[in-house]
Amino acid sequence: MKFPAEPFKIKVVERIKTTTRKTREKLLKEAGFNIFDIPAEAIYVDLLTDSGTAAMSDNQWAGLMIGDESYAGSKNYYRLEKTVREVTGYEFVIPTHQGRVAENLLFSTVCKSGMIVPNNTHFDTTRANVKANGAKAMDLPIAQALDPALDYPFKGNMDVKALDKLLERDRSKVPMVTCTVTNNSAGGQPVSMQNIREISDVCKRWKVPFFLDCARFAENCYFIRERESGYDKKSVKEIALEMFSYADGCWMSAKKDALVNIGGFLAMNDGELASLLKQKLILIEGFPTYGGLAGRDLEAVARGLIEGLDEDYLHYRTAQVKYLGESLDRGGVPVVKPIGGHAVFIDALTFAPHIPQSQFPGQALIVNMYREAGIRGVEIGSLMFAEKDPDTGEAHYPDLELVRLAIPRRVYTTMHMHYVAESILKIFHEREKMRGFELIYEAPVLRHFTCRLKEL
Ligand SMILES: *Cc1c(COP(=O)(O)O)cnc(C)c1O
Repeated sequence: MKFPAEPFKIKVVERIKTTTRKTREKLLKEAGFNIFDIPAEAIYVDLLTDSGTAAMSDNQWAGLMIGDESYAGSKNYYRLEKTVREVTGYEFVIPTHQGRVAENLLFSTVCKSGMIVPNNTHFDTTRANVKANGAKAMDLPIAQALDPALDYPFKGNMDVKALDKLLERDRSKVPMVTCTVTNNSAGGQPVSMQNIREISDVCKRWKVPFFLDCARFAENCYFIRERESGYDKKSVKEIALEMFSYADGCWMSAKKDALVNIGGFLAMNDGELASLLKQKLILIEGFPTYGGLAGRDLEAVARGLIEGLDEDYLHYRTAQVKYLGESLDRGGVPVVKPIGGHAVFIDALTFAPHIPQSQFPGQALIVNMYREAGIRGVEIGSLMFAEKDPDTGEAHYPDLELVRLAIPRRVYTTMHMHYVAESILKIFHEREKMRGFELIYEAPVLRHFTCRLKEL
């Protein structure tokens, strides 16, 4: 079967509301056409993010009941430590309450002003944490990653030659090399084992530590099994262990592949670095055996890590995202290819060519998806990224105007995906009716969260 049925049955349900078009129009007006200001209760299918939105299993909920809330040495911490060691092979495990705190601890420890941290593509919070510590966040994606229509199996890869050149020139400025699996900011595209091995070789040659930002490591390893020769007979768990063996450590936002609503950790083999990180952890998160989480949450992360590696689940998970992507593609909607691990990206410039970048074509699609069908996605284009030149006032637009439909894990059925595809196809067929937008309020930073717009 090309698209497997869900490998679970549903034991608890959460009612979601359908609203009328009139209500949605009113809510859009009140929100200044900013989708972040629409109450989640008024959304039918919410594809804003796959982060922290997973449905936990009965096994994870049962785990919450054996939460040991001792301040120090909770049994759930030891279970998490054992699980992370089993999955990654790393010795030292430091829990945090989410991924960005792990990044804060790590980069405030290894970065000094003037340093450079390379990554295939930094995720937003990673970039912000590197920059906040005075270092430069350098993206080294492969050239293929920049062409949205190109179907290439490992578009998440790093340009290893560029990494080698950087180290040849600036070895003393690079405290650590990092790689994001899957490459979130490049569309949830996977990184191949060969690429990870090559990054690792370069790092060993230049004696630089190598860390993985492994929020979606299970999805990445599943793609390796599906697409890379030599891996089709290996289990995803074996593939993950091999992948981690090429790096010196990792950090994870457990809100992705560990199937929890909150949690994260760092893991590594360098005991000295681990003890520095733990000192800071006590300052900003808590004692090293809970790191800003309740004991019950540690248990849910430990159980979720194992469930996230389940191959029936990963088969269904990646196929569901692909189902949505292929349904849109078949109907002529321009989508980024190949379909990534956690989201489908629509190329809004091609979708609505009559709306110029200065009038936010991605946001126009976002608004229409909500108005027509109660669906929420997120714009990743001019509204999020366009920058005004401080001297001339001229606007610089990003290369791509994307709309991201991120799929929460185990939350929506494939019939919901069918509904999303049909709704977007309807908008696509009437796309010349779509109108652009004008900003009427913007904050000086991260304006997309709070801006207000007017439909033209
Ligand atoms: C989500 C994410 C983070 C940040 O994690 P939070 O849990 O949101 O703080 C870091 N890196 C990647 C690749 C992510 O997807």
